Amino acid sequence: MGYIEPAPIRDKENPFESMMSRFHIASQALGLEDEVYNVLKSPAKQVVVSLPITMDDGSIKVFEGYRVIHSNILGPSKGGIRFDPGVNLDEVKALAAWMTWKCAVVDIPYGGAKGGINCNPREMSSGEVERLTRAYTSAMSEIFGPDKDIPAPDMGTGPKEMAWLMDEYSRTQGMTVNSVVTGKPLVLGGSLGRTEATGRGVMVTALSAMEKLKINPYKATVAVQGFGNVGSFAALLLEERGAKIVAVSDLSGAYYNEKGIDIQKAIDYRNSNKGSLEGYEGAEVLDGEELLVLEVDVLVPAAKEDVITTHNAEQIKAKLIVEGANGPTSYKADAIINDNGIMVAPDILANAGGVTVSYFEWVQNRLGYKWTGERVNRRSDRIMKDAFDHVYSVAKEYNVSMRIAAYIVAIDKVAKTYKYRGGF
Ligand code: NAD
Repeated sequence: MGYIEPAPIRDKENPFESMMSRFHIASQALGLEDEVYNVLKSPAKQVVVSLPITMDDGSIKVFEGYRVIHSNILGPSKGGIRFDPGVNLDEVKALAAWMTWKCAVVDIPYGGAKGGINCNPREMSSGEVERLTRAYTSAMSEIFGPDKDIPAPDMGTGPKEMAWLMDEYSRTQGMTVNSVVTGKPLVLGGSLGRTEATGRGVMVTALSAMEKLKINPYKATVAVQGFGNVGSFAALLLEERGAKIVAVSDLSGAYYNEKGIDIQKAIDYRNSNKGSLEGYEGAEVLDGEELLVLEVDVLVPAAKEDVITTHNAEQIKAKLIVEGANGPTSYKADAIINDNGIMVAPDILANAGGVTVSYFEWVQNRLGYKWTGERVNRRSDRIMKDAFDHVYSVAKEYNVSMRIAAYIVAIDKVAKTYKYRGGF
């Protein structure tokens, strides 16, 4: 039976508005001058292009493509490209700002950007998607560049599109430039460790937080919402570090076993079952929403935005929430969670392992050298651990939540750099 996703119970604010509210609070805590606040709020560049594409049936269809560079204060801007029918300039602007804070909080030398094309890749042939990707790249060839703006995959795009983008950009330059984009296939200069990087960063963040909260990982219970790239690797790696994963979920529902779920078995099952956990045995099936309010030590929302709201925040029993997804908690739910003494490792910190290894991909391409997976993991673990410790110490210093502290760290870094560089 097909599963119909229930309409989300929203807090009448979208994840971007939540992010802006936190940006505002952190700016006030920092005493940021109005002028600098306005600079950091406004995207540096917004580009909209029309892309006429010859479809397989010979007709010509015009698509709209976007690239927004929110900030290039810390360095070249970095951010994914989304192929989705819902893409619009406002959404791209919001996601670009998010990237600025994420890169700054883990201290990698990038600004933030995002791009997208309003299209439905599921209804297009591979040839049509290739022509669209190449047309977009060609139109953005003045924007992109290894020292200017470095795209990556996002919803609806993956290694295949990044390979076309790299090839098309290289044609415009008359030479191979693989450092113009990350998330490439391994043979084209992709990095080892990229696939599991975000889930791995979630694991490192969770262990760092558990240490502060004096939760013994060998005695900890964990629930993970979402069993895709981020959720399944986070679950697997936390299990490897001794934690008991008692619940996992995907669009088909939640799966609970108080004795612990064998994550490798669940991944194998999902891989053999068209990517779904539907029908997974060895666990009790719960309603998807119930997973969020289980009696566990650690909750990892790793599915989608806006799942922890004022409607369920009061019932959350976990001592620690590690946000694998972007924007899983609404701004209004923050206060309830803080009042209940729950620590939140926020999205811009906890899921930054992905962009960190993307940065390593770019570094390796520029070095013309390939690191071992072991080196990639060691260095990204160090970056994630240092970022956590920094945010934790700022939270203590300012007496704010980990979330506001992460924004303080990010905004302070960008603002200080801006002031040194100077405006007009
Ligand atoms: P994915 O498509 O691989 O997996 C998403 C999973 O969530 C699937 O198992 C899906 O069934 C499940 N899901 C969707 N709606 C659900 C619901 N209502 N309840 C329970 N499960 C549900 O996606 P992903 O790459 O793992 O990304 C997950 C989240 O992490 C997104 O918010 C994404 O923006 C964020 N993120 C991803 C990366 C990355 O490197 N992939 C990096 C940073 C942030």
